[in-house]
Amino acid sequence: MERERKYTGIGVSPGVAMAHAYVHRPAAIDPPHRILPDGDAAPEWERLVAAKGVARHQIQQMLDALGLEASGGEGGILEAHLMTLDDEMLIGALRREIFEKHHNAEWAVSDIASDFANRLRSSKNPLLAERAGDITDVARRLLRALMGTQDTISFTFEDRRIVVAENLTPSEALSLPRDRVAGVALDRGGITSHAALLVRALGIPAVFGLGDFSSNVESDAIVAIDGNAGEALISPGENEEAHLNRLAAEREALIRTVRERACEKVATPDGVEVRCMANIEDADGINELLMEGADGVGLFRTEYLWLSEGRPVEEDRQVETYATAAKALVDRRLAIRAFDLGGDKFRGGAGMGKSEDNPFLGTRSIRFLLANKTFFKIQIRAILRASAVAGRAIDFTIPMVSDIGELVQTRHLIEDCADELAKRGTPYVLPRVGIMVEVPSTALCARAFASHCDYFSLGTNDLTQYTLAVDRCNASAAHLYQPLHPSVLSLVRMTVDAAGKASIGVSACGEMAGDPLSALVLLGLGVREFSMAPSAIPLVKETFRRVPAAKAAKVATLLGSASTAKQIRHCARNILAHFAPEILRQC
Ligand code: PEP
Ligand code: MG
Repeated sequence: MERERKYTGIGVSPGVAMAHAYVHRPAAIDPPHRILPDGDAAPEWERLVAAKGVARHQIQQMLDALGLEASGGEGGILEAHLMTLDDEMLIGALRREIFEKHHNAEWAVSDIASDFANRLRSSKNPLLAERAGDITDVARRLLRALMGTQDTISFTFEDRRIVVAENLTPSEALSLPRDRVAGVALDRGGITSHAALLVRALGIPAVFGLGDFSSNVESDAIVAIDGNAGEALISPGENEEAHLNRLAAEREALIRTVRERACEKVATPDGVEVRCMANIEDADGINELLMEGADGVGLFRTEYLWLSEGRPVEEDRQVETYATAAKALVDRRLAIRAFDLGGDKFRGGAGMGKSEDNPFLGTRSIRFLLANKTFFKIQIRAILRASAVAGRAIDFTIPMVSDIGELVQTRHLIEDCADELAKRGTPYVLPRVGIMVEVPSTALCARAFASHCDYFSLGTNDLTQYTLAVDRCNASAAHLYQPLHPSVLSLVRMTVDAAGKASIGVSACGEMAGDPLSALVLLGLGVREFSMAPSAIPLVKETFRRVPAAKAAKVATLLGSASTAKQIRHCARNILAHFAPEILRQC
C-alpha cells in the first residue's frame, strides 16, 4: 500500500473532499517530423498555404467580433498577427525549409518560429523582443491548422474526481464539469486568483499553492484535500480519512441547518439590517442563487462571458444576458460590472491585450476599456438596452478606477451611447453608476469620488493586493496577502465613512465578504451590504444573525493601535468563538 504524503498550501475554498485524482496537463503541441520524398515539396507548400488561409480567417473573425478600427490595443495585435503571416522573411525561411531541406510543413513552422522567436527575444530593442510572442502565437495557430487539432480544453472523466494541475487559467476553471469535480488541488495560484474565485463560486473545496504536488500525483491515485486547513494528501491513511470524514460531516450538518433559514431577511441580534447578495459570472443559475438566499447580485463579473467564449461578446448577446439576469432577479438589486480584463484575466484566447511585464499595474480594467472605446461602448449600449428590455433599473459598476478622470470619461461615454440609441429610436434606461473601490488612491480620495458616483463597491481582493504590494495570484507571497491587515481595513473604513457622509451606498464584494470571520470584521467597520459567492451566503447570513454589530465594532477600535493582521484576527476569532463557535470551526 502507498504511504501517505501530506502537502501544505493555501485553502482557497472551504470543505473537504477525497476521491481519485484527475491530473490535468494541458496538451503541448508536438509537431511530427518527416523528410519529404522528391516531388512532395510543392504539395507540402500548398498545405502550408491552406493552413495560412485558416489562420487568417480565424484572426479576421476575431477582428470582426471586436468591431474595432484595427489600430492600437488588441486590434493592433491581431493586425500584427495578420502581417506576420505574410512576413517576407518568415515566408522565405519556410520555403527554404520545405523546398531545400525537404522538411514537412509542421516541422518547418515549429523550427523556424522558435528560431525567429529566440532571435527576437534576445534583441536589446524591447519592441522587437515583444514580437517573439506574436511569432509563437501565429506558429501555434498554423500548427493547429496543419495538424487538424483545436485549442479546446476538456476534462475527460465520468466519475467524481479531484482535479490536480499545476495551474488553471480562468477559462479552464470555467470548463470544469461542476457536477463531477469533487475538489481542486493546484501547485500555484493564490486565494483571490480568478481560478480561486470560480471554484469558490461553485462551492468546490480547493487548495492552491501546493508546490510540486501535481508532479507527484499519478492519475487515479487517491487524493484528499482540506480547503479549510489548506492541506492535500496523497494516499491518506486511516486516521486522516476518519478525521476528514468527521470534518465533512460536521460541515454538512451546519450547512444543512443554515440553508433552511437562508432565504429569510437578516438582522444582527441588536437589530442592524444586513443585505447578502451574490457574485456571479453569467446569467445562468440565478434561480439557484435565490435559493441560497441571495438578496440580489452585487457583482456580475462580465469579463467571464468574454473569457468563456475566448472572444468579445456581440451587443445583442450581451443585451439578452443582462436582461435575463435582470428579469430573473425581479426587484432585487443587479450590479453589472464593466469588463474587468487584464491582470490574470487575459488568458484563454482571442489574443487580446498586449503582453505586459506587470499586467496588474498596466492597462487593466477601465484603463483597457477607455483605450478601446468602441468595445466599451458596445457593453454600455447593451446595459442601457437591457434595462429597457427588462423594464427595471440596473447598476453599472466601473472597475479599478484610480483617477476621477476615468469616472468622468465613462459618464460621457454613457451619455454618448444614450444619444446614439435615442437617434436610432432604440429604447434605453440610464443606469446608476458606481465604482469599485479597489485601488488605495481611490479609497484615500473616497470623499471626492463620492460626489461623482451613485455607490461604492469595495473590491477587497485588489485593495489588499495593491495596498500590501502582494500579487494576489502568487502562492509564494500568499503568507503576505492579509486582507485583515490594519492598513487595508483603514482604507475600508475611510470608504465607508465617505459613503455615509455623501449618503451613497457601499457594499463589499471581495472574497472577504464570503468568509464569516472577515465578514464580521467588515460588519464592525460599518459595512451593511455584502456580495459573495452564492455558496457562502447561508453561513455568512447565520454569522450576522448571531453576532451583534456593536460587538463586531470592537475590531474598529483596534485600528488606531493594531499593527498586524494577526491582532485583528485574534480579536475577531474571540468574538466569533463567543457567539458562534461552530461557525469558527469551519473558518
Ligand atoms: C476585488 O478586487 O475584490 C473584486 C471583487 O474584483 P475581482 O476579484 O474580480 O478583481
Ligand atoms: Mg478587483
